[in-house]
Amino acid sequence: RAKSEGRGTYRFFEARMGAQVRERGLLEHDMRHAVARGEMHLVYQPQTDVRDGSVLGFEVLLRWQHPQRGAVPPGLFIPIAEESGAILQIGEWVLREACREAAGWPNPLTIAVNVSGLQLHAPHFAQLVHEVLFQTGLKPERLEIEITETALIRDPARAQSTLRQLKALGLRIAMDDFGTGYSSLSNLRTYPFDRIKIDGSFIRAVDGNEQAAAIVRSVLGLGRGLGLPVLAEGVETEAELGFLVSEHCDAAQGYLMGRPAAIGVFTAHTHGPEPDRDGQALVA
Ligand code: C2E
Ligand code: MG
Ligand code: MG
Ligand code: MG
Repeated sequence: RAKSEGRGTYRFFEARMGAQVRERGLLEHDMRHAVARGEMHLVYQPQTDVRDGSVLGFEVLLRWQHPQRGAVPPGLFIPIAEESGAILQIGEWVLREACREAAGWPNPLTIAVNVSGLQLHAPHFAQLVHEVLFQTGLKPERLEIEITETALIRDPARAQSTLRQLKALGLRIAMDDFGTGYSSLSNLRTYPFDRIKIDGSFIRAVDGNEQAAAIVRSVLGLGRGLGLPVLAEGVETEAELGFLVSEHCDAAQGYLMGRPAAIGVFTAHTHGPEPDRDGQALVA
């Protein structure tokens, strides 16, 4: 009896895994033509100065509107794009589009672009970035590349040399999702990061959770000690922002200050009379 139940359970999982593999295959196939067919677009989320709420720049986030499935979450399709290699072409498109867009913004505003491990390890990645900056006319100091720790592990020596080349171009490099990786501390020391982005999971726990608060405080102390500005991701409530203000965090990003949106949502108000502290009219 138990044995047949076990077998049933096994079949159930086997069938489910089969469905998941097929699902991945379908997405991987459809993704190949997604950019060419105009199914991908970019949204932008403001990054603000914690002291006065002013907008420092935007992070660009990729969106895929599948013709049949509707919006496919990046958490689902980015890993598939990395495994299939499609991220190389898609990522180049993201970089070029975002830099072209940002080149038209008022001068000090920055653009932060997520770069995957495969992109970072591709030959001539720094050369590609150099070309895109040249072609779009964006000043390198206005571009920030966001890298997670997992993007470094494929070939640490190669990652290191590419990051140094990128630094030599004059752009900034942020460690994304800080605190969720395996060896955040040694990676901060080994690689030439300019900024720490504390993962949203810590920020969303600070309210009423003394452990999370202690972790965020210590990351802020770490940033100060290393001379690296810290940005808090995933800020959703006034209480979280209040905590960051009182702990002298440098910058913040999250639904409270603005959800990722088409860039027009932000620039539509550019010529309005008053920048709106808690609204969308943030581009001065
Ligand atoms: P990430 O780079 O850490 O981006 C932050 C994620 O948190 C985004 O999810 C953003 O929409 C979400 N977020 C922002 N504020 C809040 C908040 O207040 N609360 C909550 N709960 N979430 C918030 P998204 O857009 O789904 O992207 C997920 C991940 O996909 C990104 O994490 C990034 O790793 C990856 N990704 C997105 N666009 C690109 C891209 O163009 N290239 C690459 N390589 N990866 C990308
Ligand atoms: Mg990011
Ligand atoms: Mg992040
Ligand atoms: Mg993330």
